[in-house]
Amino acid sequence: MLQAFLLEPGRIELKETILPEPSDGEVVVRVKTALTCGTDLKAYIRGHPLIPMPGPFGHEYSGYIERTGRGVKGFKEGDPVMGVHSAPCLECRYCERGLFNLCENIMETKALGAFAEYILLPRHIVSQNLYHKPVHIGFEHASLLEPLSCVVHPYRVVLLDGIESALVIGTGAIGLMHIAYLRLRGVKVFAMDISEERRGLASRMGAEVVRENEAVELREGLGMDLVVECTGKEDVWQRSVDYLRRGGRVILFGGCPHGSRVSYDTHRLHYDEITLHGSFHYTPEDVREAFKLITEQRLDLSPLLSGEFTLRDITEAFRLLKQGKGIKYIIRP
Ligand SMILES: [Zn+2]
Ligand SMILES: [Zn+2]
Repeated sequence: MLQAFLLEPGRIELKETILPEPSDGEVVVRVKTALTCGTDLKAYIRGHPLIPMPGPFGHEYSGYIERTGRGVKGFKEGDPVMGVHSAPCLECRYCERGLFNLCENIMETKALGAFAEYILLPRHIVSQNLYHKPVHIGFEHASLLEPLSCVVHPYRVVLLDGIESALVIGTGAIGLMHIAYLRLRGVKVFAMDISEERRGLASRMGAEVVRENEAVELREGLGMDLVVECTGKEDVWQRSVDYLRRGGRVILFGGCPHGSRVSYDTHRLHYDEITLHGSFHYTPEDVREAFKLITEQRLDLSPLLSGEFTLRDITEAFRLLKQGKGIKYIIRP
Protein backbone atom coordinates (compact mmCIF):
# COMPACT_ATOMS: atom_id res chain seq x y z
CA MET A 1 0.00 0.00 0.00
CA LEU A 2 1.04 3.59 -0.57
CA GLN A 3 1.79 5.56 2.58
CA ALA A 4 3.12 9.07 3.28
CA PHE A 5 5.86 9.62 5.87
CA LEU A 6 7.03 12.90 7.29
CA LEU A 7 10.80 12.50 7.35
CA GLU A 8 11.76 15.93 8.68
CA PRO A 9 10.23 19.40 8.48
CA GLY A 10 9.47 20.17 4.84
CA ARG A 11 10.04 16.61 3.59
CA ILE A 12 7.26 14.11 2.92
CA GLU A 13 8.09 10.79 1.27
CA LEU A 14 5.71 8.26 -0.24
CA LYS A 15 6.60 4.61 0.31
CA GLU A 16 5.13 1.26 -0.61
CA THR A 17 4.51 -0.58 2.66
CA ILE A 18 2.85 -3.84 3.60
CA LEU A 19 -0.87 -3.81 4.30
CA PRO A 20 -1.16 -4.26 8.08
CA GLU A 21 -2.80 -7.35 9.53
CA PRO A 22 -5.28 -6.47 12.29
CA SER A 23 -4.75 -8.19 15.65
CA ASP A 24 -7.52 -8.90 18.13
CA GLY A 25 -9.95 -6.00 18.36
CA GLU A 26 -8.23 -4.00 15.61
CA VAL A 27 -9.49 -2.93 12.20
CA VAL A 28 -7.86 -1.80 8.98
CA VAL A 29 -9.65 1.10 7.31
CA ARG A 30 -9.32 1.74 3.58
CA VAL A 31 -8.98 5.52 3.61
CA LYS A 32 -11.41 7.24 1.29
CA THR A 33 -10.69 10.76 2.43
CA ALA A 34 -8.05 12.27 4.69
CA LEU A 35 -7.77 15.92 5.63
CA THR A 36 -4.80 18.16 6.37
CA CYS A 37 -4.82 19.75 9.80
CA GLY A 38 -3.13 22.66 11.56
CA THR A 39 -1.14 20.20 13.68
CA ASP A 40 0.14 18.50 10.52
CA LEU A 41 1.15 21.89 9.15
CA LYS A 42 3.03 22.78 12.35
CA ALA A 43 4.87 19.45 12.09
CA TYR A 44 5.62 20.08 8.41
CA ILE A 45 6.97 23.57 9.10
CA ARG A 46 8.85 23.22 12.37
CA GLY A 47 8.32 19.73 13.76
CA HIS A 48 5.85 18.85 16.50
CA PRO A 49 6.44 17.19 19.89
CA LEU A 50 3.43 14.90 19.38
CA ILE A 51 4.24 13.84 15.81
CA PRO A 52 7.41 11.71 15.73
CA MET A 53 9.70 12.12 12.72
CA PRO A 54 10.42 10.24 10.62
CA GLY A 55 7.00 8.69 10.94
CA PRO A 56 3.58 8.07 9.41
CA PHE A 57 1.67 11.26 8.73
CA GLY A 58 -1.96 12.39 8.89
CA HIS A 59 -4.73 11.72 11.42
CA GLU A 60 -8.08 12.91 10.03
CA TYR A 61 -9.78 10.20 7.99
CA SER A 62 -12.86 8.34 6.95
CA GLY A 63 -13.26 5.29 4.76
CA TYR A 64 -14.39 1.67 4.62
CA ILE A 65 -13.54 -1.22 6.91
CA GLU A 66 -11.15 -3.40 4.92
CA ARG A 67 -10.31 -6.06 7.50
CA THR A 68 -11.29 -6.80 11.08
CA GLY A 69 -9.31 -8.59 13.74
CA ARG A 70 -10.82 -11.26 15.95
CA GLY A 71 -13.42 -10.14 18.45
CA VAL A 72 -14.33 -6.85 16.76
CA LYS A 73 -17.93 -6.06 17.57
CA GLY A 74 -20.23 -3.78 15.62
CA PHE A 75 -18.08 -3.43 12.48
CA LYS A 76 -17.65 -5.68 9.48
CA GLU A 77 -15.79 -5.54 6.18
CA GLY A 78 -17.20 -2.93 3.81
CA ASP A 79 -18.80 -0.72 6.49
CA PRO A 80 -18.29 3.01 5.88
CA VAL A 81 -16.76 4.52 9.01
CA MET A 82 -15.61 7.79 10.52
CA GLY A 83 -13.37 8.03 13.53
CA VAL A 84 -10.64 9.84 15.39
CA HIS A 85 -7.04 8.74 15.91
CA SER A 86 -6.86 8.41 19.69
CA ALA A 87 -8.75 7.11 22.69
CA PRO A 88 -8.03 7.00 26.42
CA CYS A 89 -6.54 3.92 28.11
CA LEU A 90 -9.24 3.89 30.84
CA GLU A 91 -6.66 2.70 33.37
CA CYS A 92 -4.33 5.58 34.24
CA ARG A 93 -4.64 8.10 37.08
CA TYR A 94 -6.33 10.67 34.83
CA CYS A 95 -8.75 8.21 33.27
CA GLU A 96 -9.68 7.13 36.80
CA ARG A 97 -10.69 10.72 37.46
CA GLY A 98 -12.68 10.94 34.22
CA LEU A 99 -10.16 13.35 32.66
CA PHE A 100 -9.97 11.26 29.50
CA ASN A 101 -8.42 13.93 27.26
CA LEU A 102 -5.50 14.14 29.70
CA CYS A 103 -4.96 10.35 29.76
CA GLU A 104 -1.30 9.55 30.38
CA ASN A 105 -1.20 7.16 27.45
CA ILE A 106 -3.44 8.87 24.91
CA MET A 107 -0.63 10.42 22.87
CA GLU A 108 1.65 7.36 22.82
CA THR A 109 -1.16 5.08 21.67
CA LYS A 110 -2.63 7.26 18.93
CA ALA A 111 -2.86 6.09 15.33
CA LEU A 112 -1.01 8.26 12.84
CA GLY A 113 -0.88 7.51 9.14
CA ALA A 114 -4.15 8.70 7.60
CA PHE A 115 -2.24 9.94 4.53
CA ALA A 116 -2.14 6.41 3.19
CA GLU A 117 -4.28 3.91 1.35
CA TYR A 118 -4.98 2.07 4.61
CA ILE A 119 -4.74 2.84 8.31
CA LEU A 120 -4.65 0.35 11.18
CA LEU A 121 -6.80 1.32 14.16
CA PRO A 122 -5.94 -0.21 17.53
CA ARG A 123 -8.51 -1.86 19.73
CA HIS A 124 -9.03 1.02 22.20
CA ILE A 125 -9.91 3.38 19.34
CA VAL A 126 -12.22 0.88 17.63
CA SER A 127 -14.11 0.23 20.85
CA GLN A 128 -14.47 3.88 21.91
CA ASN A 129 -14.09 6.34 19.06
CA LEU A 130 -15.03 4.73 15.76
CA TYR A 131 -18.49 5.31 14.26
CA HIS A 132 -20.55 4.12 11.35
CA LYS A 133 -20.77 6.83 8.71
CA PRO A 134 -24.37 7.41 7.65
CA VAL A 135 -24.91 7.42 3.86
CA HIS A 136 -26.18 11.00 3.77
CA ILE A 137 -22.84 12.33 5.07
CA GLY A 138 -20.01 12.71 2.56
CA PHE A 139 -16.60 11.31 3.44
CA GLU A 140 -15.12 14.85 3.39
CA HIS A 141 -17.42 16.03 6.15
CA ALA A 142 -17.11 12.77 8.05
CA SER A 143 -13.35 13.35 8.21
CA LEU A 144 -13.92 16.54 10.22
CA LEU A 145 -14.85 14.45 13.27
CA GLU A 146 -11.46 14.81 14.96
CA PRO A 147 -11.00 18.59 14.79
CA LEU A 148 -14.65 19.19 15.68
CA SER A 149 -14.26 16.94 18.74
CA CYS A 150 -11.42 19.23 19.90
CA VAL A 151 -13.55 22.32 19.25
CA VAL A 152 -16.56 21.20 21.31
CA HIS A 153 -14.34 20.07 24.21
CA PRO A 154 -13.89 23.38 26.11
CA TYR A 155 -17.62 24.10 26.09
CA ARG A 156 -18.22 21.32 28.61
CA VAL A 157 -16.59 23.55 31.18
CA VAL A 158 -17.01 27.01 29.66
CA LEU A 159 -20.78 26.94 29.62
CA LEU A 160 -22.38 29.36 27.22
CA ASP A 161 -25.27 30.40 29.47
CA GLY A 162 -25.06 34.16 29.79
CA ILE A 163 -22.46 34.43 27.03
CA GLU A 164 -23.81 36.74 24.37
CA SER A 165 -20.67 37.85 22.60
CA ALA A 166 -17.43 36.14 21.66
CA LEU A 167 -14.31 37.16 19.83
CA VAL A 168 -12.49 34.45 17.91
CA ILE A 169 -8.87 35.36 17.20
CA GLY A 170 -7.31 33.40 14.36
CA THR A 171 -9.75 32.01 11.83
CA GLY A 172 -7.99 29.00 10.40
CA ALA A 173 -9.89 25.70 10.45
CA ILE A 174 -10.20 25.61 14.23
CA GLY A 175 -11.25 29.25 14.57
CA LEU A 176 -13.85 28.80 11.83
CA MET A 177 -15.27 25.75 13.60
CA HIS A 178 -15.50 27.72 16.85
CA ILE A 179 -17.39 30.42 14.94
CA ALA A 180 -19.82 27.87 13.49
CA TYR A 181 -20.37 26.23 16.87
CA LEU A 182 -20.84 29.50 18.77
CA ARG A 183 -23.26 30.79 16.12
CA LEU A 184 -25.25 27.57 16.42
CA ARG A 185 -25.44 28.15 20.17
CA GLY A 186 -26.83 31.64 19.59
CA VAL A 187 -23.71 33.67 20.42
CA LYS A 188 -22.90 36.86 18.51
CA VAL A 189 -19.41 36.25 17.14
CA PHE A 190 -16.69 38.69 16.17
CA ALA A 191 -13.53 37.53 14.46
CA MET A 192 -10.01 38.81 13.84
CA ASP A 193 -7.36 37.46 11.52
CA ILE A 194 -4.36 38.82 9.64
CA SER A 195 -5.27 37.02 6.40
CA GLU A 196 -7.80 38.45 4.02
CA GLU A 197 -8.84 35.00 2.78
CA ARG A 198 -9.52 33.81 6.33
CA ARG A 199 -11.37 37.01 7.25
CA GLY A 200 -13.64 36.41 4.24
CA LEU A 201 -14.37 32.87 5.41
CA ALA A 202 -15.05 34.04 8.96
CA SER A 203 -17.67 36.39 7.66
CA ARG A 204 -19.14 33.63 5.47
CA MET A 205 -19.47 31.52 8.62
CA GLY A 206 -21.51 34.29 10.25
CA ALA A 207 -18.93 36.26 12.23
CA GLU A 208 -18.53 40.02 12.15
CA VAL A 209 -14.96 40.73 11.16
CA VAL A 210 -13.27 43.40 13.27
CA ARG A 211 -9.91 45.09 13.55
CA GLU A 212 -7.83 45.16 16.69
CA ASN A 213 -8.95 48.60 17.93
CA GLU A 214 -12.59 47.86 17.16
CA ALA A 215 -12.40 44.66 19.16
CA VAL A 216 -11.34 46.55 22.26
CA GLU A 217 -14.12 49.11 21.87
CA LEU A 218 -16.84 46.56 21.17
CA ARG A 219 -20.02 46.05 23.11
CA GLU A 220 -20.34 49.65 24.27
CA GLY A 221 -16.87 49.57 25.65
CA LEU A 222 -17.70 46.73 28.01
CA GLY A 223 -15.67 44.05 26.23
CA MET A 224 -16.39 40.50 25.19
CA ASP A 225 -17.99 37.80 27.32
CA LEU A 226 -15.66 35.25 25.78
CA VAL A 227 -12.46 35.27 23.75
CA VAL A 228 -11.27 32.18 21.90
CA GLU A 229 -7.55 32.25 21.09
CA CYS A 230 -6.85 30.10 18.04
CA THR A 231 -3.50 31.36 16.75
CA GLY A 232 -1.04 29.61 19.07
CA LYS A 233 1.10 32.75 19.20
CA GLU A 234 2.57 34.04 22.44
CA ASP A 235 1.73 37.70 21.86
CA VAL A 236 -1.88 36.86 20.99
CA TRP A 237 -2.24 34.71 24.11
CA GLN A 238 -1.00 37.69 26.01
CA ARG A 239 -3.33 40.19 24.35
CA SER A 240 -6.42 37.99 24.42
CA VAL A 241 -7.46 39.18 27.93
CA ASP A 242 -7.53 42.81 26.73
CA TYR A 243 -10.77 42.24 24.83
CA LEU A 244 -12.72 40.82 27.77
CA ARG A 245 -15.30 42.41 29.97
CA ARG A 246 -14.96 41.94 33.73
CA GLY A 247 -15.82 38.35 34.61
CA GLY A 248 -15.05 37.26 31.06
CA ARG A 249 -13.33 34.09 29.97
CA VAL A 250 -10.58 33.19 27.55
CA ILE A 251 -10.34 29.80 25.94
CA LEU A 252 -6.65 29.30 25.12
CA PHE A 253 -6.99 26.87 22.26
CA GLY A 254 -4.01 27.43 19.97
CA GLY A 255 -0.94 25.51 21.15
CA CYS A 256 2.23 27.64 21.21
CA PRO A 257 5.73 26.36 20.45
CA HIS A 258 7.42 24.50 23.32
CA GLY A 259 8.88 26.81 25.97
CA SER A 260 6.56 29.76 25.20
CA ARG A 261 5.71 31.99 28.15
CA VAL A 262 3.16 34.71 28.75
CA SER A 263 2.44 36.99 31.67
CA TYR A 264 -0.84 38.59 32.64
CA ASP A 265 -1.82 41.64 34.63
CA THR A 266 -2.83 40.23 38.02
CA HIS A 267 -5.24 43.13 38.44
CA ARG A 268 -7.28 41.91 35.49
CA LEU A 269 -7.25 38.32 36.70
CA HIS A 270 -8.09 39.14 40.31
CA TYR A 271 -10.19 42.30 40.45
CA ASP A 272 -11.83 41.73 37.07
CA GLU A 273 -12.28 38.02 37.74
CA ILE A 274 -11.05 36.93 34.37
CA THR A 275 -10.81 33.19 33.82
CA LEU A 276 -8.14 31.60 31.66
CA HIS A 277 -9.19 28.24 30.31
CA GLY A 278 -6.70 25.99 28.52
CA SER A 279 -8.14 23.36 26.20
CA PHE A 280 -6.47 20.26 24.84
CA HIS A 281 -7.72 17.35 22.75
CA TYR A 282 -11.07 15.62 23.41
CA THR A 283 -12.85 12.91 25.37
CA PRO A 284 -15.02 10.12 23.92
CA GLU A 285 -18.02 12.21 25.00
CA ASP A 286 -16.76 15.10 22.85
CA VAL A 287 -16.38 12.75 19.88
CA ARG A 288 -19.98 11.62 20.38
CA GLU A 289 -21.10 15.26 20.45
CA ALA A 290 -19.12 16.09 17.29
CA PHE A 291 -20.52 12.99 15.58
CA LYS A 292 -24.04 14.22 16.35
CA LEU A 293 -23.31 17.71 15.05
CA ILE A 294 -21.91 16.33 11.79
CA THR A 295 -24.51 13.66 11.16
CA GLU A 296 -27.43 15.91 12.06
CA GLN A 297 -25.88 18.44 9.66
CA ARG A 298 -26.23 21.23 12.16
CA LEU A 299 -23.08 23.06 11.07
CA ASP A 300 -22.10 24.02 7.55
CA LEU A 301 -18.39 23.35 7.51
CA SER A 302 -17.93 23.19 3.73
CA PRO A 303 -16.10 26.57 3.60
CA LEU A 304 -13.23 24.84 5.44
CA LEU A 305 -12.49 22.51 2.55
CA SER A 306 -10.28 24.44 0.16
CA GLY A 307 -9.51 21.86 -2.50
CA GLU A 308 -8.28 18.34 -3.05
CA PHE A 309 -5.12 16.46 -3.99
CA THR A 310 -4.23 12.87 -4.60
CA LEU A 311 -1.92 11.21 -2.09
CA ARG A 312 0.91 11.42 -4.63
CA ASP A 313 0.56 15.21 -4.72
CA ILE A 314 0.33 15.68 -0.95
CA THR A 315 3.44 17.87 -0.79
CA GLU A 316 1.69 20.42 -2.99
CA ALA A 317 -1.13 20.71 -0.43
CA PHE A 318 1.38 21.46 2.34
CA ARG A 319 3.27 23.92 0.15
CA LEU A 320 0.05 25.90 -0.29
CA LEU A 321 -0.80 25.72 3.42
CA LYS A 322 2.70 26.92 4.30
CA GLN A 323 2.10 29.94 2.05
CA GLY A 324 -1.10 30.63 3.98
CA LYS A 325 -3.31 29.52 1.10
CA GLY A 326 -6.40 27.48 1.89
CA ILE A 327 -7.75 26.11 5.17
CA LYS A 328 -7.90 22.32 4.84
CA TYR A 329 -7.15 20.14 1.83
CA ILE A 330 -8.76 16.83 1.03
CA ILE A 331 -6.19 14.09 0.34
CA ARG A 332 -7.45 11.17 -1.69
CA PRO A 333 -5.37 7.99 -1.69
ZN1 LIG B 1 -6.42 17.38 13.43
ZN1 LIG C 1 -5.58 6.86 30.63
